[in-house]
Amino acid sequence: MKLKTQPVHERVEITAVSAEGKAIARINNQVVFISGAVPGDVADIQIIKKHRRFLEGRVVQFHEQSPTRTTPVCGHFGTCGGCKWQHLQYEHQLKFKQQQVHDQLVRIGKLDVPEIQSIVGARHIYNYRNRLDFGFSNKRWLTTEEVKSGIAFDDRGGMGFHISGAFDKVLDLKECHLQGDFSERVRKFVRQYTSAHQIPYFDIRNHTGMMRSLIVRTSSTGESMVIVMFFGNDQTNIDQVMQAIHAEFSEVTSLLYIINPKGNDTFFDLDVYVFAGKDHIMEEMEGLRFRVGPKSFYQTSSAQAYELYKITRDYAGLTGEEIVYDLYTGTGTIAQFVSRSAKKVIGVELVPAAIEDAKMNASLNNISNCTFYAADMKDMFTAEFMAENGQPDVIITDPPRAGMHPDVAVCLRDSGAKRIVYVSCNPASQARDLAIICEKYHVTKVQPVDMFPQTHHVENVVLLEIN
Ligand code: SAH
Repeated sequence: MKLKTQPVHERVEITAVSAEGKAIARINNQVVFISGAVPGDVADIQIIKKHRRFLEGRVVQFHEQSPTRTTPVCGHFGTCGGCKWQHLQYEHQLKFKQQQVHDQLVRIGKLDVPEIQSIVGARHIYNYRNRLDFGFSNKRWLTTEEVKSGIAFDDRGGMGFHISGAFDKVLDLKECHLQGDFSERVRKFVRQYTSAHQIPYFDIRNHTGMMRSLIVRTSSTGESMVIVMFFGNDQTNIDQVMQAIHAEFSEVTSLLYIINPKGNDTFFDLDVYVFAGKDHIMEEMEGLRFRVGPKSFYQTSSAQAYELYKITRDYAGLTGEEIVYDLYTGTGTIAQFVSRSAKKVIGVELVPAAIEDAKMNASLNNISNCTFYAADMKDMFTAEFMAENGQPDVIITDPPRAGMHPDVAVCLRDSGAKRIVYVSCNPASQARDLAIICEKYHVTKVQPVDMFPQTHHVENVVLLEIN
Protein backbone atom coordinates (compact mmCIF):
# COMPACT_ATOMS: atom_id res chain seq x y z
CA MET A 1 0.00 0.00 0.00
CA LYS A 2 1.39 3.43 -0.96
CA LEU A 3 1.04 6.11 1.66
CA LYS A 4 1.25 9.59 0.18
CA THR A 5 0.08 11.66 3.12
CA GLN A 6 2.00 10.09 5.94
CA PRO A 7 3.40 12.36 8.67
CA VAL A 8 7.05 13.31 8.63
CA HIS A 9 9.17 11.98 11.50
CA GLU A 10 11.63 14.63 12.52
CA ARG A 11 15.35 14.29 13.18
CA VAL A 12 15.58 10.55 12.84
CA GLU A 13 19.05 9.07 13.18
CA ILE A 14 20.13 6.54 10.56
CA THR A 15 21.83 3.69 12.39
CA ALA A 16 22.70 0.81 10.05
CA VAL A 17 22.65 -0.62 6.53
CA SER A 18 20.66 -3.59 5.29
CA ALA A 19 21.92 -6.53 3.25
CA GLU A 20 20.47 -4.86 0.15
CA GLY A 21 22.54 -1.76 0.80
CA LYS A 22 19.73 0.48 2.02
CA ALA A 23 20.07 2.61 5.13
CA ILE A 24 18.11 1.58 8.21
CA ALA A 25 16.48 3.65 10.93
CA ARG A 26 14.09 2.72 13.70
CA ILE A 27 10.88 4.66 14.09
CA ASN A 28 8.49 3.68 16.89
CA ASN A 29 10.34 0.38 17.19
CA GLN A 30 9.81 -0.48 13.55
CA VAL A 31 12.57 -1.01 11.00
CA VAL A 32 12.51 1.54 8.18
CA PHE A 33 14.55 1.12 4.98
CA ILE A 34 15.66 4.39 3.41
CA SER A 35 17.41 5.01 0.07
CA GLY A 36 20.06 7.67 -0.24
CA ALA A 37 20.97 7.93 3.44
CA VAL A 38 23.92 6.48 5.34
CA PRO A 39 24.48 5.60 9.00
CA GLY A 40 25.27 8.74 10.97
CA ASP A 41 22.90 10.96 8.97
CA VAL A 42 20.10 12.71 10.86
CA ALA A 43 17.08 13.46 8.68
CA ASP A 44 13.34 14.02 8.55
CA ILE A 45 11.81 10.81 7.24
CA GLN A 46 8.44 10.17 5.65
CA ILE A 47 7.05 6.65 5.44
CA ILE A 48 6.16 5.85 1.82
CA LYS A 49 5.28 2.19 2.00
CA LYS A 50 4.25 -0.30 4.66
CA HIS A 51 5.17 -3.97 4.52
CA ARG A 52 4.25 -6.60 7.06
CA ARG A 53 7.63 -6.64 8.83
CA PHE A 54 9.20 -3.34 7.84
CA LEU A 55 8.54 0.11 6.41
CA GLU A 56 10.05 2.08 3.55
CA GLY A 57 10.81 5.73 4.02
CA ARG A 58 12.25 8.66 2.12
CA VAL A 59 14.39 11.56 3.23
CA VAL A 60 12.46 14.83 3.29
CA GLN A 61 15.32 16.90 4.66
CA PHE A 62 18.79 16.26 6.04
CA HIS A 63 19.78 17.92 9.31
CA GLU A 64 23.17 16.32 9.82
CA GLN A 65 25.32 14.57 7.24
CA SER A 66 27.27 11.59 8.44
CA PRO A 67 31.07 11.97 8.66
CA THR A 68 31.28 8.68 6.71
CA ARG A 69 29.99 10.45 3.59
CA THR A 70 32.00 11.45 0.56
CA THR A 71 31.04 13.25 -2.66
CA PRO A 72 29.90 10.79 -5.37
CA VAL A 73 32.05 11.05 -8.51
CA CYS A 74 29.24 10.22 -10.95
CA GLY A 75 26.56 12.63 -12.10
CA HIS A 76 24.09 9.73 -12.30
CA PHE A 77 24.43 8.87 -8.62
CA GLY A 78 20.98 8.47 -7.09
CA THR A 79 19.26 7.65 -10.41
CA CYS A 80 21.45 4.85 -11.72
CA GLY A 81 21.07 1.59 -9.81
CA GLY A 82 24.73 0.67 -10.40
CA CYS A 83 26.83 2.28 -7.67
CA LYS A 84 24.55 2.86 -4.73
CA TRP A 85 27.38 3.40 -2.24
CA GLN A 86 29.34 6.12 -4.03
CA HIS A 87 28.37 8.52 -1.26
CA LEU A 88 30.17 6.36 1.34
CA GLN A 89 33.90 6.60 1.96
CA TYR A 90 35.58 3.40 0.83
CA GLU A 91 36.74 2.37 4.32
CA HIS A 92 33.13 2.57 5.48
CA GLN A 93 31.89 0.57 2.48
CA LEU A 94 34.31 -2.13 3.60
CA LYS A 95 33.11 -1.90 7.19
CA PHE A 96 29.49 -2.39 6.14
CA LYS A 97 30.36 -5.31 3.90
CA GLN A 98 32.18 -6.96 6.77
CA GLN A 99 29.09 -6.34 8.87
CA GLN A 100 26.86 -7.84 6.18
CA VAL A 101 28.80 -11.11 6.22
CA HIS A 102 28.58 -11.21 10.00
CA ASP A 103 24.84 -10.48 9.94
CA GLN A 104 24.06 -13.14 7.35
CA LEU A 105 26.19 -15.91 8.83
CA VAL A 106 25.96 -15.22 12.55
CA ARG A 107 23.02 -12.98 13.42
CA ILE A 108 20.49 -14.27 10.87
CA GLY A 109 22.02 -17.62 9.89
CA LYS A 110 22.87 -18.52 13.53
CA LEU A 111 25.90 -20.41 12.30
CA ASP A 112 28.77 -21.19 14.56
CA VAL A 113 31.71 -19.49 12.87
CA PRO A 114 35.17 -18.40 14.03
CA GLU A 115 36.19 -14.74 13.96
CA ILE A 116 35.60 -13.35 10.47
CA GLN A 117 38.86 -12.20 8.85
CA SER A 118 39.09 -8.52 7.87
CA ILE A 119 37.72 -7.99 4.38
CA VAL A 120 40.28 -7.79 1.56
CA GLY A 121 39.73 -4.38 -0.03
CA ALA A 122 40.30 -3.50 -3.67
CA ARG A 123 43.23 -1.42 -4.88
CA HIS A 124 41.16 0.16 -7.64
CA ILE A 125 37.83 1.44 -6.41
CA TYR A 126 36.74 2.84 -9.79
CA ASN A 127 37.21 1.51 -13.32
CA TYR A 128 37.75 -1.99 -12.03
CA ARG A 129 35.24 -3.88 -14.16
CA ASN A 130 36.22 -5.82 -17.27
CA ARG A 131 32.67 -6.03 -18.59
CA LEU A 132 29.68 -3.74 -18.94
CA ASP A 133 26.36 -4.41 -20.66
CA PHE A 134 24.47 -1.38 -21.94
CA GLY A 135 20.86 -1.60 -23.11
CA PHE A 136 19.13 0.48 -25.77
CA SER A 137 15.55 1.62 -25.44
CA ASN A 138 13.33 3.85 -27.50
CA LYS A 139 12.02 5.17 -24.18
CA ARG A 140 14.78 6.49 -22.07
CA TRP A 141 14.20 7.34 -18.45
CA LEU A 142 13.37 11.02 -18.01
CA THR A 143 14.80 12.70 -14.95
CA THR A 144 12.48 14.49 -12.53
CA GLU A 145 13.78 17.82 -13.89
CA GLU A 146 13.03 16.80 -17.48
CA VAL A 147 9.51 15.75 -16.58
CA LYS A 148 8.93 18.95 -14.61
CA SER A 149 10.28 21.10 -17.46
CA GLY A 150 7.17 20.25 -19.50
CA ILE A 151 9.28 19.99 -22.67
CA ALA A 152 8.14 17.31 -25.11
CA PHE A 153 11.14 15.18 -26.01
CA ASP A 154 10.92 13.95 -29.59
CA ASP A 155 13.89 11.66 -29.52
CA ARG A 156 13.21 9.44 -26.55
CA GLY A 157 15.99 6.99 -27.41
CA GLY A 158 18.48 6.11 -24.71
CA MET A 159 21.34 3.76 -24.01
CA GLY A 160 22.66 2.69 -20.66
CA PHE A 161 21.53 0.69 -17.67
CA HIS A 162 18.01 -0.51 -17.01
CA ILE A 163 16.22 1.29 -14.24
CA SER A 164 15.07 -1.08 -11.55
CA GLY A 165 11.29 -1.23 -11.35
CA ALA A 166 10.88 0.14 -14.93
CA PHE A 167 11.80 -2.76 -17.21
CA ASP A 168 11.18 -0.87 -20.46
CA LYS A 169 13.29 2.18 -19.60
CA VAL A 170 17.01 2.79 -19.61
CA LEU A 171 19.01 5.57 -18.07
CA ASP A 172 20.66 7.43 -20.96
CA LEU A 173 24.23 7.37 -19.70
CA LYS A 174 26.48 10.37 -19.98
CA GLU A 175 29.26 8.93 -17.87
CA CYS A 176 30.20 5.72 -16.10
CA HIS A 177 33.20 5.15 -13.86
CA LEU A 178 33.21 1.39 -13.70
CA GLN A 179 35.24 0.23 -16.70
CA GLY A 180 37.53 3.01 -17.84
CA ASP A 181 38.27 5.17 -20.81
CA PHE A 182 38.09 2.61 -23.62
CA SER A 183 34.64 1.43 -22.61
CA GLU A 184 33.48 5.04 -22.32
CA ARG A 185 34.72 5.87 -25.81
CA VAL A 186 33.04 2.84 -27.38
CA ARG A 187 29.77 3.50 -25.58
CA LYS A 188 29.65 7.16 -26.56
CA PHE A 189 30.58 6.44 -30.16
CA VAL A 190 27.90 3.77 -30.63
CA ARG A 191 25.28 5.96 -28.96
CA GLN A 192 26.11 8.97 -31.14
CA TYR A 193 26.52 7.03 -34.36
CA THR A 194 23.27 5.12 -34.08
CA SER A 195 21.40 8.25 -33.11
CA ALA A 196 22.90 10.34 -35.93
CA HIS A 197 22.12 7.61 -38.50
CA GLN A 198 18.68 6.97 -37.08
CA ILE A 199 19.12 3.29 -36.48
CA PRO A 200 15.99 2.57 -34.44
CA TYR A 201 16.35 1.53 -30.79
CA PHE A 202 14.63 -1.50 -29.34
CA ASP A 203 11.04 -1.13 -28.20
CA ILE A 204 10.66 -3.86 -25.61
CA ARG A 205 6.88 -3.54 -25.36
CA ASN A 206 6.07 -3.67 -29.07
CA HIS A 207 9.09 -5.71 -30.15
CA THR A 208 10.39 -3.39 -32.84
CA GLY A 209 13.70 -1.65 -33.56
CA MET A 210 17.28 -2.70 -34.23
CA MET A 211 19.71 -1.68 -31.48
CA ARG A 212 19.27 -3.90 -28.46
CA SER A 213 22.45 -3.92 -26.39
CA LEU A 214 26.18 -3.31 -26.39
CA ILE A 215 28.63 -5.36 -24.37
CA VAL A 216 32.19 -4.20 -23.84
CA ARG A 217 34.72 -6.64 -22.40
CA THR A 218 38.32 -5.75 -21.64
CA SER A 219 41.06 -7.99 -20.33
CA SER A 220 44.29 -7.96 -18.35
CA THR A 221 46.19 -8.81 -21.57
CA GLY A 222 45.01 -5.59 -23.26
CA GLU A 223 42.60 -7.38 -25.61
CA SER A 224 39.03 -6.23 -25.97
CA MET A 225 35.71 -7.61 -27.15
CA VAL A 226 32.77 -5.55 -28.37
CA ILE A 227 29.45 -7.31 -28.92
CA VAL A 228 26.46 -5.58 -30.47
CA MET A 229 23.10 -7.24 -30.02
CA PHE A 230 20.48 -6.40 -32.62
CA PHE A 231 16.80 -7.13 -32.34
CA GLY A 232 15.94 -6.95 -36.05
CA ASN A 233 17.88 -8.74 -38.77
CA ASP A 234 18.24 -5.91 -41.30
CA GLN A 235 21.69 -6.84 -42.61
CA THR A 236 22.28 -3.41 -44.17
CA ASN A 237 21.81 -1.71 -40.79
CA ILE A 238 23.92 -4.35 -39.08
CA ASP A 239 26.82 -4.02 -41.51
CA GLN A 240 26.66 -0.26 -41.33
CA VAL A 241 26.88 -0.16 -37.51
CA MET A 242 29.54 -2.85 -37.30
CA GLN A 243 31.65 -1.26 -40.02
CA ALA A 244 31.48 2.10 -38.26
CA ILE A 245 32.69 0.58 -34.97
CA HIS A 246 35.39 -1.34 -36.81
CA ALA A 247 36.65 1.81 -38.54
CA GLU A 248 36.66 3.85 -35.32
CA PHE A 249 38.19 1.20 -33.03
CA SER A 250 40.66 -0.83 -35.04
CA GLU A 251 42.28 -1.91 -31.75
CA VAL A 252 39.27 -4.10 -30.81
CA THR A 253 40.54 -7.68 -31.04
CA SER A 254 37.11 -9.32 -31.13
CA LEU A 255 34.21 -7.50 -32.79
CA LEU A 256 31.04 -9.58 -32.69
CA TYR A 257 27.33 -9.31 -33.19
CA ILE A 258 24.21 -11.22 -32.31
CA ILE A 259 20.68 -11.11 -33.68
CA ASN A 260 18.28 -11.66 -30.82
CA PRO A 261 14.58 -11.79 -31.71
CA LYS A 262 13.65 -13.25 -28.29
CA GLY A 263 11.82 -11.60 -25.41
CA ASN A 264 14.88 -11.59 -23.15
CA ASP A 265 18.50 -10.49 -23.47
CA THR A 266 20.22 -13.83 -22.84
CA PHE A 267 22.17 -15.23 -25.77
CA PHE A 268 23.44 -18.62 -24.57
CA ASP A 269 21.21 -20.20 -27.19
CA LEU A 270 21.96 -17.81 -30.06
CA ASP A 271 24.63 -17.65 -32.79
CA VAL A 272 27.38 -15.10 -32.29
CA TYR A 273 28.84 -13.75 -35.54
CA VAL A 274 32.43 -12.57 -35.86
CA PHE A 275 32.53 -9.27 -37.74
CA ALA A 276 36.27 -8.73 -37.27
CA GLY A 277 39.10 -10.27 -35.28
CA LYS A 278 38.87 -13.38 -33.09
CA ASP A 279 35.87 -15.03 -31.45
CA HIS A 280 37.37 -14.66 -27.96
CA ILE A 281 39.72 -12.61 -25.81
CA MET A 282 42.54 -13.84 -23.63
CA GLU A 283 42.90 -13.35 -19.89
CA GLU A 284 46.08 -14.10 -18.01
CA MET A 285 46.70 -15.05 -14.40
CA GLU A 286 49.92 -16.35 -12.83
CA GLY A 287 51.19 -17.43 -16.24
CA LEU A 288 47.95 -19.28 -17.03
CA ARG A 289 46.12 -18.12 -20.11
CA PHE A 290 42.35 -18.20 -20.32
CA ARG A 291 40.37 -17.97 -23.51
CA VAL A 292 37.10 -16.16 -22.81
CA GLY A 293 34.36 -16.42 -25.40
CA PRO A 294 31.31 -14.15 -25.66
CA LYS A 295 29.09 -16.62 -23.80
CA SER A 296 31.56 -17.36 -21.03
CA PHE A 297 31.57 -15.97 -17.54
CA TYR A 298 34.81 -14.47 -16.30
CA GLN A 299 35.08 -12.76 -12.91
CA THR A 300 34.25 -9.10 -13.58
CA SER A 301 37.24 -7.70 -11.73
CA SER A 302 40.37 -9.47 -12.99
CA ALA A 303 42.60 -8.03 -10.25
CA GLN A 304 40.29 -9.03 -7.38
CA ALA A 305 39.64 -12.41 -9.00
CA TYR A 306 43.33 -13.13 -8.47
CA GLU A 307 43.04 -12.24 -4.76
CA LEU A 308 39.94 -14.40 -4.46
CA TYR A 309 41.58 -17.38 -6.16
CA LYS A 310 44.67 -17.16 -3.97
CA ILE A 311 42.51 -17.31 -0.84
CA THR A 312 40.54 -20.21 -2.32
CA ARG A 313 43.73 -22.13 -3.12
CA ASP A 314 45.13 -21.41 0.31
CA TYR A 315 41.93 -22.67 2.00
CA ALA A 316 41.98 -25.79 -0.17
CA GLY A 317 45.31 -26.68 1.50
CA LEU A 318 46.55 -28.89 -1.34
CA THR A 319 49.69 -31.03 -1.28
CA GLY A 320 49.58 -32.47 -4.79
CA GLU A 321 47.86 -35.72 -3.76
CA GLU A 322 44.24 -34.60 -3.65
CA ILE A 323 41.25 -35.21 -5.88
CA VAL A 324 39.57 -31.82 -6.10
CA TYR A 325 36.09 -30.93 -7.40
CA ASP A 326 35.52 -27.41 -8.73
CA LEU A 327 31.76 -26.96 -8.86
CA TYR A 328 30.18 -24.15 -10.92
CA THR A 329 33.54 -23.94 -12.64
CA GLY A 330 32.62 -21.44 -15.41
CA THR A 331 35.55 -21.53 -17.85
CA GLY A 332 37.45 -23.71 -15.40
CA THR A 333 39.60 -20.92 -14.05
CA ILE A 334 39.72 -22.02 -10.40
CA ALA A 335 40.17 -25.65 -11.48
CA GLN A 336 43.24 -24.74 -13.52
CA PHE A 337 44.50 -22.31 -10.89
CA VAL A 338 44.68 -25.12 -8.30
CA SER A 339 45.53 -27.95 -10.72
CA ARG A 340 49.31 -27.78 -10.24
CA SER A 341 48.86 -28.51 -6.53
CA ALA A 342 46.34 -31.34 -7.00
CA LYS A 343 46.36 -34.91 -8.29
CA LYS A 344 43.33 -34.26 -10.43
CA VAL A 345 40.50 -31.75 -10.70
CA ILE A 346 36.91 -32.34 -11.83
CA GLY A 347 34.98 -29.25 -12.97
CA VAL A 348 31.21 -29.00 -13.46
CA GLU A 349 29.37 -26.13 -15.13
CA LEU A 350 25.94 -25.55 -16.68
CA VAL A 351 26.96 -23.61 -19.81
CA PRO A 352 28.37 -25.91 -22.51
CA ALA A 353 30.24 -23.06 -24.24
CA ALA A 354 32.07 -22.27 -20.99
CA ILE A 355 33.08 -25.94 -20.69
CA GLU A 356 34.39 -25.88 -24.26
CA ASP A 357 36.52 -22.90 -23.25
CA ALA A 358 37.60 -24.69 -20.07
CA LYS A 359 38.81 -27.70 -22.08
CA MET A 360 40.55 -25.54 -24.63
CA ASN A 361 42.20 -23.50 -21.89
CA ALA A 362 43.46 -26.56 -20.07
CA SER A 363 45.13 -27.83 -23.22
CA LEU A 364 46.49 -24.34 -23.99
CA ASN A 365 48.03 -24.31 -20.52
CA ASN A 366 49.38 -27.85 -20.89
CA ILE A 367 47.22 -29.03 -18.02
CA SER A 368 46.29 -32.68 -18.31
CA ASN A 369 44.81 -33.45 -14.88
CA CYS A 370 41.51 -31.56 -15.26
CA THR A 371 38.25 -33.10 -16.50
CA PHE A 372 35.25 -30.91 -17.26
CA TYR A 373 31.56 -31.71 -17.54
CA ALA A 374 28.73 -29.52 -18.81
CA ALA A 375 25.55 -30.20 -16.82
CA ASP A 376 23.16 -28.81 -14.28
CA MET A 377 24.77 -29.42 -10.91
CA LYS A 378 21.58 -30.75 -9.39
CA ASP A 379 21.40 -33.50 -12.01
CA MET A 380 25.08 -34.33 -12.31
CA PHE A 381 26.46 -33.99 -8.80
CA THR A 382 25.44 -37.24 -7.11
CA ALA A 383 27.04 -40.03 -5.09
CA GLU A 384 27.36 -42.05 -8.34
CA PHE A 385 29.15 -39.17 -10.03
CA MET A 386 31.66 -39.05 -7.18
CA ALA A 387 32.09 -42.82 -7.26
CA GLU A 388 32.87 -42.64 -10.99
CA ASN A 389 35.21 -39.65 -10.83
CA GLY A 390 36.93 -40.47 -7.57
CA GLN A 391 36.20 -39.73 -3.94
CA PRO A 392 36.84 -35.98 -3.50
CA ASP A 393 39.38 -34.87 -0.90
CA VAL A 394 38.59 -31.21 -1.36
CA ILE A 395 35.53 -29.58 -2.94
CA ILE A 396 35.48 -26.00 -4.13
CA THR A 397 32.05 -24.59 -4.87
CA ASP A 398 31.28 -21.18 -6.39
CA PRO A 399 27.56 -21.00 -7.21
CA PRO A 400 25.66 -18.00 -8.66
CA ARG A 401 23.79 -15.50 -6.44
CA ALA A 402 20.86 -17.83 -5.83
CA GLY A 403 23.18 -20.32 -4.14
CA MET A 404 22.97 -24.08 -4.56
CA HIS A 405 19.98 -26.32 -5.15
CA PRO A 406 19.14 -28.03 -1.80
CA ASP A 407 19.95 -31.44 -3.34
CA VAL A 408 23.44 -30.16 -4.15
CA ALA A 409 23.96 -28.87 -0.61
CA VAL A 410 22.86 -32.26 0.76
CA CYS A 411 25.22 -34.06 -1.59
CA LEU A 412 28.08 -31.81 -0.44
CA ARG A 413 27.17 -32.56 3.18
CA ASP A 414 27.36 -36.27 2.45
CA SER A 415 30.41 -36.11 0.18
CA GLY A 416 32.98 -37.16 2.76
CA ALA A 417 35.48 -34.56 1.46
CA LYS A 418 37.96 -33.43 4.12
CA ARG A 419 37.54 -29.79 3.22
CA ILE A 420 34.96 -27.74 1.37
CA VAL A 421 35.76 -24.22 0.19
CA TYR A 422 32.57 -22.27 -0.45
CA VAL A 423 33.05 -19.13 -2.55
CA SER A 424 29.92 -16.99 -2.69
CA CYS A 425 28.81 -13.65 -4.06
CA ASN A 426 25.77 -13.66 -1.79
CA PRO A 427 26.27 -14.38 1.92
CA ALA A 428 22.50 -14.75 2.42
CA SER A 429 22.18 -17.78 0.12
CA GLN A 430 25.56 -18.99 1.37
CA ALA A 431 24.30 -18.97 4.97
CA ARG A 432 21.24 -21.00 3.92
CA ASP A 433 23.41 -23.61 2.15
CA LEU A 434 25.91 -23.71 5.01
CA ALA A 435 23.14 -24.60 7.44
CA ILE A 436 22.69 -27.87 5.51
CA ILE A 437 26.40 -28.63 5.04
CA CYS A 438 27.11 -27.86 8.71
CA GLU A 439 25.13 -30.92 9.78
CA LYS A 440 28.38 -32.79 9.06
CA TYR A 441 30.99 -30.01 8.74
CA HIS A 442 32.10 -27.00 10.75
CA VAL A 443 33.26 -23.61 9.55
CA THR A 444 36.93 -22.97 10.33
CA LYS A 445 37.67 -19.83 8.30
CA VAL A 446 35.70 -16.93 6.85
CA GLN A 447 37.24 -14.35 4.53
CA PRO A 448 35.18 -11.60 2.84
CA VAL A 449 36.64 -10.02 -0.32
CA ASP A 450 35.52 -6.82 -1.99
CA MET A 451 35.06 -7.52 -5.68
CA PHE A 452 32.64 -4.64 -6.32
CA PRO A 453 33.59 -1.27 -4.80
CA GLN A 454 30.81 1.37 -4.78
CA THR A 455 28.14 -1.33 -4.51
CA HIS A 456 26.82 -3.22 -1.50
CA HIS A 457 27.83 -6.55 -3.02
CA VAL A 458 30.33 -8.68 -1.15
CA GLU A 459 32.13 -11.92 -1.96
CA ASN A 460 32.76 -14.35 0.86
CA VAL A 461 35.00 -17.41 1.11
CA VAL A 462 34.27 -20.00 3.79
CA LEU A 463 36.37 -23.03 4.69
CA LEU A 464 34.53 -26.04 6.09
CA GLU A 465 36.19 -29.07 7.62
CA ILE A 466 34.55 -32.41 8.21
CA ASN A 467 33.46 -33.16 11.81
N1 SAH B 1 34.03 -20.40 -10.57
C1 SAH B 1 33.88 -19.68 -11.79
C2 SAH B 1 32.46 -19.23 -12.11
C3 SAH B 1 31.58 -18.79 -10.97
S1 SAH B 1 30.06 -18.02 -11.45
C4 SAH B 1 34.84 -18.51 -11.83
O1 SAH B 1 35.43 -18.17 -10.82
O2 SAH B 1 35.00 -17.92 -12.89
C5 SAH B 1 28.90 -19.29 -11.29
C6 SAH B 1 28.86 -20.26 -12.44
O3 SAH B 1 27.84 -21.19 -12.14
C7 SAH B 1 28.51 -19.66 -13.79
O4 SAH B 1 29.49 -20.01 -14.72
C8 SAH B 1 27.16 -20.30 -14.13
O5 SAH B 1 26.99 -20.54 -15.51
C9 SAH B 1 27.22 -21.58 -13.35
N2 SAH B 1 25.91 -22.16 -13.00
C10 SAH B 1 24.76 -21.53 -12.68
N3 SAH B 1 23.79 -22.40 -12.38
C11 SAH B 1 24.33 -23.64 -12.51
C12 SAH B 1 23.83 -24.96 -12.33
N4 SAH B 1 22.56 -25.17 -11.97
N5 SAH B 1 24.65 -26.00 -12.55
C13 SAH B 1 25.95 -25.80 -12.91
N6 SAH B 1 26.48 -24.55 -13.10
C14 SAH B 1 25.69 -23.49 -12.90
